This record gives sequence, C-alpha cells and structure tokens, in this order.
Amino acid sequence: MNTIVVATRNSHKAEEIQAMLGPSFNLETMEKHACAPLVIEDAATFEGNAIKKAAVLARWLFDLSHKSLEGSGRLFVLADDSGLEVDALGGAPGVHSARFAGPNLNANAPDDANNAKLLRLLTGVPMEKRTARFRCVLALARISDHAPHTPGFSSPACLDTNIPPTFTCQGVCEGHILESPRGKGGFGYDPLFIPMGWNQSFAELGPEIKNRLSHRARALAALQDYLSKLEI
Ligand code: IMP
Repeated sequence: MNTIVVATRNSHKAEEIQAMLGPSFNLETMEKHACAPLVIEDAATFEGNAIKKAAVLARWLFDLSHKSLEGSGRLFVLADDSGLEVDALGGAPGVHSARFAGPNLNANAPDDANNAKLLRLLTGVPMEKRTARFRCVLALARISDHAPHTPGFSSPACLDTNIPPTFTCQGVCEGHILESPRGKGGFGYDPLFIPMGWNQSFAELGPEIKNRLSHRARALAALQDYLSKLEI
C-alpha cells in the first residue's frame, strides 16, 4: 500500500483528499507526528511554501521511516498552500491570506478581521473591478528522494536552493468579491467570494457544490491524474 502523509493536522482536509484519491492510497495526517518540525511559510509564492513544507517534512519523515514507518510501501508527503488573489489589490492578500489582518506576517488573524480588512481596502471599487481568484498549489515529495546524503542537502537551511525534484500542480477558481458578507458556511473568505457563473457566495453554496468548483478540488484532480500515470 502506498502512503501519502498530508502535511496538515486538519482531518477534514485529509478526508477530502482521501475521497478524491480513492482506496489505492493510504492517507495519514501529521496528527500522529506531534514532534514534526514547524515549517514557517515565508516564501513569496504559494508554490514556494508548498514545496518548502513538503521537502522539510519529507526529510524529517525519511529518518522516521526507518523506525516507525517501516514496511508501509512507498511514502510520499503532500503539502498545500492556498489563498485569495484580488486583482484590484495587485494580487493581495495572496500568500498572506491567513495573516492579512494580523499584527505581523507571522500571526494568523481571525477570518472576520481578514474579511473586514479586505472590504475596507475595496471600498468604492465597482463590481466589475472586484475580480479575484482562489489558488491552491499542491507539492508531492517522495520521501526516499529526501535522504540526507542527497548532494548539497545537508540541512533544512539548504532547502531553498537544494530541493530534490518535487511534483507540483495547482487549481484556480475565478470569481469576484462581494461588498458585504453573505452566508454562514465554509471558512476564510467564503462569505465574500462569488465563484464565476454563480450568484451565491461559497458560504451560501455549501460544501457539496464548493468541493466541486473549488481551487483545492481542481488541484486535487490534477494530482489524481499525475498519480494515475505514475509507476509506483
Ligand atoms: P491554507 O492554505 O489552508 O493555509 O489557507 C490560507 C488561507 O487562505 C486561509 O486561512 C483562508 O484565509 C484562505 N483560503 C484558502 N482556501 C480558502 C477557501 O476555500 N475558502 C476561503 N478562504 C480560503
């Protein structure tokens, strides 16, 4: 059985991924790896953050795989990074989506505060200029590629320049930003985001429809396509 360790402690995210990838992959979350290194998401792009997370955890799990993960088949780490890009704000909040209204770029802010800041910055911007998109980038690292003896790969500090090849794919969901929140479902910027072709916000549409249209669903479809062609 091939195992994918998803770089999240969010079991909902893992369930969503398991549902899309089907039973030929055994999915684990980081929940049982409480002492895994904390990865600081300080890259300038979603791709940079996703690769950094996947690489740091693959390196850490490489060591562990000789101890507790032995015999579990091929091992991969899957990491994601996602957020909202608003055209009228030059692509902000982008990689800072979770921390948009925070006191600094290291601290997440509550969803309400992030949404309020977004609306404030868009005051007076007409509907036709409130275009935006959610973007999700996935990075898949094979744990065996992250052996410490990989040339030039002696410490996590080297990760920026010496990351072994990592598969990445992405999904995008286009839409626009409302002038006030609508709906109670979802999380993050969902009450402010109307996906293209719909009249309701992600928070009004509910999980079934959102999970068909979303940036994450589209990225996962690309990952599924890659995995189905991979000789493993
Ligand atoms: P992460 O990739 O799970 O860390 O998400 C970063 C941030 O982007 C979240 O905290 C949300 O603010 C925003 N975000 C990402 N995906 C969604 C979504 O599907 N709906 C609403 N907000 C999202």
